[in-house]
Amino acid sequence: MRILFLFSLALAIVPLLAGEVTHVVQKNETLGGIARKYGVSTAALQSFNGISDANLLFAGKKLKIPSATASQIDYVIKTGDSLGGIASRFGVKTSDLIEINGIKQPNLIKVGQKITIPLGTAKKPPATPLLPASVLKALKTIKNSSRWKRIVIHHSATPVDDALNMHKVHKNQRGMKNGLAYHFVISNGSRKASDGEIHIGGRWKGQLDGGHMKQLSLNKTSIGICLIGNFELGPPTSKQLKSLEALCKHLMKNCRIPYSSVTTHKLLHPNHTKCPGKCFSLPAFVKRIKP
Ligand SMILES: [Zn+2]
Repeated sequence: MRILFLFSLALAIVPLLAGEVTHVVQKNETLGGIARKYGVSTAALQSFNGISDANLLFAGKKLKIPSATASQIDYVIKTGDSLGGIASRFGVKTSDLIEINGIKQPNLIKVGQKITIPLGTAKKPPATPLLPASVLKALKTIKNSSRWKRIVIHHSATPVDDALNMHKVHKNQRGMKNGLAYHFVISNGSRKASDGEIHIGGRWKGQLDGGHMKQLSLNKTSIGICLIGNFELGPPTSKQLKSLEALCKHLMKNCRIPYSSVTTHKLLHPNHTKCPGKCFSLPAFVKRIKP
């Protein structure tokens, strides 16, 4: 434990007052276990509380838990230190250390040099976009049929459009009795709906076949989601992608569709269409919905 002792001596602690939490150590608890519980690194917890030997933790001791957003620690570089080593000990990203401390040459840190370590910037899970409450509420009133086997992503191929206009075109010009061929439309803000707005089509409300695929068998089993825009010319908006992610996750869960069955129009009909365009990357999108 000599190493840990020296290590903690090298630290000067700069707690900021906001959001500090106290934890009373219970019997059989370890510093590592407590650190995990609060999502901070063991090194940070130890230095924050001035503990020289982690093995001498006793039940009843009060520990201050560094708040992830409100704390930082000053650290003095010792012989043998590397930025990567310090970063992994404190559970932060090396790139964050470099950026926060304005370090120009990461390989040339000096013994005695003081750096600031931000706490809790690493390991934050990426925020999962949520469906708007109104959409979620509307979706919950619909009893899903068990026949949906896949989700097919389309683009409208028209830069300016919205679901209501598409519904009219599909009904009046294409003669589709049920109108809007897709189950869902996600707007790009180009017309009346706002960017990322999810329109629940009549075919989803009524759990009807889609009209978005050439084959009837595919229309019977495929949920069609259309993003407004021409993705041969440019990518979807980030709000559209967030809405698509939230919607797909909801549908995958409720209709028991695996992420591997989220696909595009052109993958099912490669010679028939380019939909949803070369600027929509399915592999990049699948990364977002993969559990
Ligand atoms: Zn399509």
